[in-house]
Amino acid sequence: MKMPCYLVRDLLPLYHDGVCGEETAADVREHLEGCESCRAALAELDADTGAEARLNAEGEQASAEALRKVRGDLRRKRLLPALLVGLAAVVVLAAAVLGFRRYAMGVQLTIPTEDIAAVTLGEDNALRITMQDGKCWTAFTACYRTLRTGGQDKEIVLFTMYVDLWSSLFRDGWSDGQQAMLFDNLQQEAQEVCYVRWDEWDQVTAATKTEGEGSGAQDVINGDAVSGLLHPLWER
Ligand SMILES: [Zn+2]
Repeated sequence: MKMPCYLVRDLLPLYHDGVCGEETAADVREHLEGCESCRAALAELDADTGAEARLNAEGEQASAEALRKVRGDLRRKRLLPALLVGLAAVVVLAAAVLGFRRYAMGVQLTIPTEDIAAVTLGEDNALRITMQDGKCWTAFTACYRTLRTGGQDKEIVLFTMYVDLWSSLFRDGWSDGQQAMLFDNLQQEAQEVCYVRWDEWDQVTAATKTEGEGSGAQDVINGDAVSGLLHPLWER
């Protein structure tokens, strides 16, 4: 049976998609063999389908790219707050350490008398303080004094020292387990070298009065008032 062109044109999309019945498809094929214009119409359908497929593929690619971009943005958005939080934490930590350091350097800890292993007097007029734990801190102050007890005077040297909290935590001591202090005339004058705890130094200072004037002036400690506060570590 011969089909007219208009009928073939209506059937072409179905034929093209392969959804015609077998007999219809055979008739269409037969018509196409003898009709150039309907073959051209079928070729156009083929071309359209290819373009559509290309468009679809491009669309999918564009979607994939858009999706990647969104994911990237999300990752950046999540990363930035994390970085800021990390940075803030570092700043806070650094400030805390600096703040603690400043505080700790101002905390003056008393060094117990038992921590001092020995005090020796050298031929070079140097007073040497040796610590039990090998950590020695600079003597804060040392001075000549006259100790007056029951009307009797004795020439002594007093020294005191402290360690600040920061150094006690993080330093090994200022000197290698021993601290030397040079004194003029130490050999001749000093009969006793006494340690005064840093937290009791003010009491000793309060019991001290200057007597005389000029080169004859001497700082006299009221021995009765400082009983128990002076710890003799070296005596002759
Ligand atoms: Zn035809």
